[in-house]
Amino acid sequence: MKEVLNNGLLIQDHKTQVFVDNFVCDAPARSLLKCVKSHSGYCSCERCVQPGEWKGKVVFTELDAPLRRDHDFSRKVDEKHHTKQVKKTLELAWFRS
Ligand SMILES: [Zn+2]
Repeated sequence: MKEVLNNGLLIQDHKTQVFVDNFVCDAPARSLLKCVKSHSGYCSCERCVQPGEWKGKVVFTELDAPLRRDHDFSRKVDEKHHTKQVKKTLELAWFRS
């Protein structure tokens, strides 16, 4: 993918530049990409800040828990939601602006 993004794609002698518009990910892939707890962990809800509780599996029972906010996510305010994983930098040049 990196080579295609850097060098384009050659189709029938016509070179086409390739950009990333979106990522479509399932929950495990999304947690890897965002460096947050996987969907089955405590503090893993991507929408709100409730920690979850163990009932044979981690469940989230609060219906009105405070929502996550972009600003707090960027600052990693909820340390238990984020992993220690080092996020690899995605090159901005790959994204269509
Ligand atoms: Zn939630």
